[in-house]
Amino acid sequence: MTDSTMPSLAGYQPALHRAPISDANRLGIDYRAEAPRLPYRGEVWDCHVHLRNLASARAYMQAAEVYGTKRVWSMTPLEEVDAIRDEFGKRIAFIAVPDYWATDWLHAMGDDWLRRIEAFAKKGVKVCKFWAAPRGLDKWDQMWIDSPIRLRSMRLARELGMTLMVHVADPDTWFATKYADAGKYGTKRDHYARFERMLAMFPDADWWAAHMAGSPEDLDFLQGLLDRWPRLRVDTSATKWMVRELSKHADVLRDFLARNPGRVMFGTDIVADPANLSFDLFASRFWALRALLETDYDGPSPIVDPDLSMVDPSLPKESTAHLRGASVDAATLTDVYVGACRGLLG
Ligand SMILES: [Zn+2]
Repeated sequence: MTDSTMPSLAGYQPALHRAPISDANRLGIDYRAEAPRLPYRGEVWDCHVHLRNLASARAYMQAAEVYGTKRVWSMTPLEEVDAIRDEFGKRIAFIAVPDYWATDWLHAMGDDWLRRIEAFAKKGVKVCKFWAAPRGLDKWDQMWIDSPIRLRSMRLARELGMTLMVHVADPDTWFATKYADAGKYGTKRDHYARFERMLAMFPDADWWAAHMAGSPEDLDFLQGLLDRWPRLRVDTSATKWMVRELSKHADVLRDFLARNPGRVMFGTDIVADPANLSFDLFASRFWALRALLETDYDGPSPIVDPDLSMVDPSLPKESTAHLRGASVDAATLTDVYVGACRGLLG
């Protein structure tokens, strides 16, 4: 696909007041009708979702298909993998995750995790996730990315030839509020110092850092990481966070993506859990991320962003971020939607 095959969409504006209002849809967008109005015509791969079980996968795929999604990588509990694979085949691949629902995290992140990594690898899974968000420290003080117990599981994943996927840091808004106690949570930069120690420890590994490596707020910092670590890739997932921060410098984002082919993969971070399988919840993530990347839309995001009222309690709870589209060119979009992911995951 070239620029000339992508219809120009200057002044893109979704049709409003066409659907019931919810936290995923404050503008009343008919997400089904709006999908074909987005300019990009090629396929999209979503490299970052959490499909809890088969029913969740079915509900997610309804929205995913409307938004052109042909391949998906899911962090699904080991016990649910076979049922999803039986129905969806190669369309949904998997990323190894520990048993986050266990009460005993020493076991869940220790011996049980090693057993699961091997079982995932036997099923052909090629990526292993190491979640190291600071809030994990509330549950267990060994959640740092470089703690010895995590190093054990990383070594095993590497012996099995897996890509190492991480969640490092969290939004700046959280470090300013719920993580204000730096003695407990560290500073945001502390988390990157530990992460870069791990990158240095496994220089032959392919690395994948979710959520723009936790740094959509500072793309210069992210560029430094990508320049220092040529085997590191990132994904665009976590819609509310990405929309809020990347819209603040949409022009910088456009240049950043063009400058880093093969390094940024499209992902939504949709969590499909039997407790909430609403079509609008899932479709809103596709619409918002695609509008951010493809269009020149300049207006309110339809999705309620609780961080806004957390940082400024004078704001209403149902505040939504400003969404400013980056109008990324078609060749770069193809790379973000499919090419970068194909380079890593085939
Ligand atoms: Zn996620």
